[in-house]
Amino acid sequence: MTSHLLPTYARADLAFERGDGAWLTSVKGERYLDFGGGVAVASLGYSHPHLIKALNDQAGKIWHTSNLYLIPEGERLAGRLCDATFADVVFFTNSGAEAMECSIKMARKYQSANGHPERFRIITFEGAFHGRTLATLAAGGQEKYLEGFGPKVDGFDQVPFGDHTALEAAITPQTGAILIEPIQGEGGIRPVPPQCLRGLRALCDEKSLLLVFDEVQCGIGRTGRFFAHEHAGIAPDIMAIAKGIGGGFPLGACLATREAAKGMTVGTHGSTFGGNPLAMSVGNAVLDVILQPEFLQRIARMGLLLKQRLAELMDRHPGLIGEIRGEGLMLGIKAQVPNGELVAAARAEKLLVIAAGDNVVRLIPPLIVEEPEVLEAVRRLDAACGRIERARSRMAQKGAAE
Ligand SMILES: *Cc1c(COP(=O)(O)O)cnc(C)c1O
Repeated sequence: MTSHLLPTYARADLAFERGDGAWLTSVKGERYLDFGGGVAVASLGYSHPHLIKALNDQAGKIWHTSNLYLIPEGERLAGRLCDATFADVVFFTNSGAEAMECSIKMARKYQSANGHPERFRIITFEGAFHGRTLATLAAGGQEKYLEGFGPKVDGFDQVPFGDHTALEAAITPQTGAILIEPIQGEGGIRPVPPQCLRGLRALCDEKSLLLVFDEVQCGIGRTGRFFAHEHAGIAPDIMAIAKGIGGGFPLGACLATREAAKGMTVGTHGSTFGGNPLAMSVGNAVLDVILQPEFLQRIARMGLLLKQRLAELMDRHPGLIGEIRGEGLMLGIKAQVPNGELVAAARAEKLLVIAAGDNVVRLIPPLIVEEPEVLEAVRRLDAACGRIERARSRMAQKGAAE
């Protein structure tokens, strides 16, 4: 069958019909344990009754009104996000890239409003991923994504991950902000050590730069805190979020202090769909669950259990697994074979995991996973490793025989 979809994705030959908690059922009726969570989106898993109710209740009232009018559900969601974070103001979007675009525009506008329009440049880090719009691609700086799409948007200076000297050297009179993911997601689950995040905060304060965090993947409870930067005890000036906040509904946001947002006055930014009543109701319902203190504590506990069991798995399969890294339910397995091989073997064991940069396999399950599911995921990974080992030894034997 020829597909009429633009062929930009390398899709697995697998479709799902329904989901329940951390489990997905394929159109063929097979059950899969989902430790990819639709790329960290299905924060409350599938068919969560509280989300279904919120969506259905709102769907029966009003879906969309535009931002020409007040949206009470949005006022409420923004207030709750600000109460729970460093932020004073929120702009709602439909995706992570749009949340990043708003963050980038806001940082530039802040410097401009302060009389420094020349400070439009933003320092970013190698291995970063900030989205697929032209500006966020330039921020991410990945050649393979930029190639063929014309001149790269100007204003982004990339430095190697973890290189303090290069970072300081990259700051010029045109620098206005530093942008970083507290834990790189697509880049291969690479956490920025807490002391480095604190160092970045101090550096930004010293040089009058804004600190911008991209918590699109690592935020919304993923690491056992509401936001990953909380582990370091510091806060950014601006932060982009998305993925988990919608629990599967397209929703993102740019959060900021009132000071950092001071250039964003009437008419400077907008979105037709952003913050519509349907999205806002779902976002509020996601927060109802995630902001319960016991919920975040359980994520930290499940994350620790998963990390310990993965470390044991690494001991059993040293030829396949080189390192386990990450925080909470955002863990990465550094593969010693091509990571796609491990992802495919896991899928054959009916466990869904996701490849990332640096030859890593990502485990980013729904945040509602319980102990039996964590143990089952590790059991299936163990079986997947066994599959690869058997296939490799068969190949070695065949090679010897020939
Ligand atoms: C997924 C992601 C984005 C982009 O989000 P989209 O919703 O795909 O636009 C940006 N930053 C990070 C860290 C992400 O993981």
